[in-house]
Amino acid sequence: MIPYGRHEITQKDIDEVVKVLHSDFLTQGPMVPRFEQAVVSYCGAKYGVAVNSGTSALHIACLSLGLGVGDILWTTPNTFVASANCGRYCGASIDFVDIDPDTWNISTEALREKLIVARKNNCLPKILVSVHFAGQPPEQEKIWELSQEFGFNIIEDASHAIGASRNDEQVGSCRWSDITIFSFHPVKIITTAEGGMALTNDEDLSLRMQMLRTHGITRNIEQMEFEPPGSWYYEQIELGFNYRMTDIQAALGISQLARIDEYILKRNSIANEYISSLSGMPLRLPVVLEGNMSAFHLFVIRIDLEKIKLSYGDVFDKLKKSGINVNLHYMSVHLQPYYKNLGFSAGMFPEAEQYAKEAITLPLYPILEQHDQDYVIKTLSKILV
Ligand SMILES: *Cc1c(COP(=O)(O)O)cnc(C)c1O
Repeated sequence: MIPYGRHEITQKDIDEVVKVLHSDFLTQGPMVPRFEQAVVSYCGAKYGVAVNSGTSALHIACLSLGLGVGDILWTTPNTFVASANCGRYCGASIDFVDIDPDTWNISTEALREKLIVARKNNCLPKILVSVHFAGQPPEQEKIWELSQEFGFNIIEDASHAIGASRNDEQVGSCRWSDITIFSFHPVKIITTAEGGMALTNDEDLSLRMQMLRTHGITRNIEQMEFEPPGSWYYEQIELGFNYRMTDIQAALGISQLARIDEYILKRNSIANEYISSLSGMPLRLPVVLEGNMSAFHLFVIRIDLEKIKLSYGDVFDKLKKSGINVNLHYMSVHLQPYYKNLGFSAGMFPEAEQYAKEAITLPLYPILEQHDQDYVIKTLSKILV
C-alpha cells in the first residue's frame, strides 16, 4: 500500500533521541525549551509552549483565552474534530462557518455575513479557530480585521501548515492571531511521534499556557499569591493538566525541524507534478492563493462526478484496491454523531458538505518515490475515464 502520508526518520534523528535516553533527563530537561526556542525563532513568534499533542495545544489555548461555559467557539466544518472539540472541553458551544469552494478553507465572506447576523442576535463567538487546511494559510489578515471589528480572539490551527507562509509572513508568527498551534503527529510536516506546540506574542498567554500544561503549578514568584517561605515552595494557581512533552520527543523535533525547508520544497514539487499531470482529468485541483506558499500537508482532488460514470465510493475503492491508501479529509465535523446530537444537521454548511462528497486525498510526503507517484497518476487516469 502507498500511504497518503508518511514520516521520515533519519539516522541523525535516532542518534539525537538515543543521546537523550542516555542523559539525566527524559522529561523536564533542557531539550523541551530548546525545541520551543527553535520553533519560535523559525516562525518569528515570541513564545512557544510545547505539549504532548496538537489537541492539548488547542485546549490550553482556549483556556488561556478564558473560554468557558456560556461562550461560543467557531471553526470550519472541514477540519479534524479536535478543532471543535477543544471548545467543548471548556464547556463552550460550537458553531461552524462554511468553506470557500476553491481553497477549502473557511470562507472569509461567509464569516463576515455570519458575524453580522450574530451581532444582531447577540451570539458572537469568543474564539474563532482558523484552520490552515492542507497546509494553505487562510486570508488571515482579513480575518484579523474582522476580529477587531466584532471583538473575538483567534487561534490559528496550523496543524497542517508549519513551514507555510503568506505574503512572506511565516505561519506561526501570530501576526494576525492571538495563538497559533502546531501538531507533530507523524502524518504532519515534522514529527515528535505525538506532540504539539502553542505559539504566541503575548507573554501573559504564554505564562498561563505553561502553567496549564503542568497542573496549573508555578514556581515563578511573580505569579504566586503568597510570599514563598523557602525554595521548596510552589503554588497551584488553577486547575491544569499533565500535557508535557518529553525531552525524547523534543530531541526528535529539533532534529526534524532542521529539514523543514527541504520538506516544504519537496512537498511543493510533488504537488506541482500532480497538478500538471492531473490537469485535464475530470476533477478539481487545489487552488493556492496568490501570496501563499502552502506546506502541502495534503494533496486533495475533487472528483467531477457529473463527468464520470462511477460513484465516489467506486473511485475510492478502486484506488484502495490498486494499493493506494487514499483518504477523505474531512467528513464535515458537524455531521459527526456527537455534533448531530448537539443539534447540527445536513444542509447547514452546503459547501463543506458538497466538498466531502467529492474530495480524495492522494499520497504526498517527502519520501514518496517518483515511480509511486507515477503509479498513482496512471491508476487515477485509468479509473477516471
Ligand atoms: C492533527 C490535527 C489536530 C490534532 O493534532 P494531534 O497532535 O493529533 O492532537 C488538530 N487539528 C487539525 C486540523 C489536525 O490535522
